[in-house]
Amino acid sequence: MIIVMRDDASQEEIKQVLARVEELGFTTHPSRGAKKMIIGVIGDLNREELVESLGAYPGIEKLVPILEPYKLAGRTFEEDRSIIEIKDGVCIGGKEILVMAGPCAVESEEQIRLTAESIKAAGATVLRGGAFKPRTSPYSFQGLEEEGLKILRRVANDTGLAVITEVVDPRDVELVGNYTDIYQIGARNMQNFFLLREVGKTNKPVLLKRGLSATYNEFLMAAEYIMAEGNYNVILCERGIRTFETYTRNTLDLVSIPVLRKLSHLPVVIDPSHGTGHWDLVAPAARGAVAMGADGLIIEVHPDPTKAMSDGQQSLKFEKFASLMEELKKLAQAVEREI
Ligand code: PEP
Ligand code: MN
Repeated sequence: MIIVMRDDASQEEIKQVLARVEELGFTTHPSRGAKKMIIGVIGDLNREELVESLGAYPGIEKLVPILEPYKLAGRTFEEDRSIIEIKDGVCIGGKEILVMAGPCAVESEEQIRLTAESIKAAGATVLRGGAFKPRTSPYSFQGLEEEGLKILRRVANDTGLAVITEVVDPRDVELVGNYTDIYQIGARNMQNFFLLREVGKTNKPVLLKRGLSATYNEFLMAAEYIMAEGNYNVILCERGIRTFETYTRNTLDLVSIPVLRKLSHLPVVIDPSHGTGHWDLVAPAARGAVAMGADGLIIEVHPDPTKAMSDGQQSLKFEKFASLMEELKKLAQAVEREI
């Protein structure tokens, strides 16, 4: 349910409504739009009682039921597109398309420094790199952990980039938060509800990757878990889903861009690297994503993909990434966006 307050509702009237709703056992999520104050009301309690008890409050314009199972992530709660600030004026969800790039895994300071300088020169604004790597095999490289986080932060500070890195364990949310600007929740953890709740208790942006076989509904319900804890800074990321096709690593669902933008106000990012699994398919997929209205891209780039400790086959060399960026800048203009 959404409570739409009248344009002229006083602070006192708003306060009284919030207090009454909370007294009835619901959680309130106030949000101030351009003109109006709206209050999202969430809870599995008696709705009739709520509607009845709010009838006499003068500051209320109307009550709107939310029919979708996702409340805060849906368009009923927020008609305008969410613009999420990453840091110092770097935003996602507006006219500018945010490009995040870097290796799959942090391997060394030199690797990260070379990559950061190169992607920055090409026009990317966020440095990616995994320090905790949830690999399919327990015997594969698992990441440099805190040492990797330190490298990312140091290099990002020196180059003026923001950092995105994955957190895999609810117990590491605070640790990772000390170094990163955006939490990445991996596809395999999309329904790790304890992890979602934990990042939901922070106010840092969270890039939530779509699960390997998650429907849009399940994806948005996972975003809802984060938002229900009070963190509205959620970015949705399509990274390919499992289908019968085995030529590509996953099947990149580009139609998810218009669908998710229709169902939700949250920004939508495409990961053409995991989405395809082949470096030579990354550029066409990225171009398609920009053409279809993506708000951002996350792309794997490595100084020498042949020596990468993970995902080399889908990583771009510096020159390839730079020329892709030039193409994307032109394409962005054609769809009235900017890179
Ligand atoms: C990654 O970004 O390196 C990663 C592990 O992605 P995903 O969770 O989408 O597989
Ligand atoms: Mn990877």
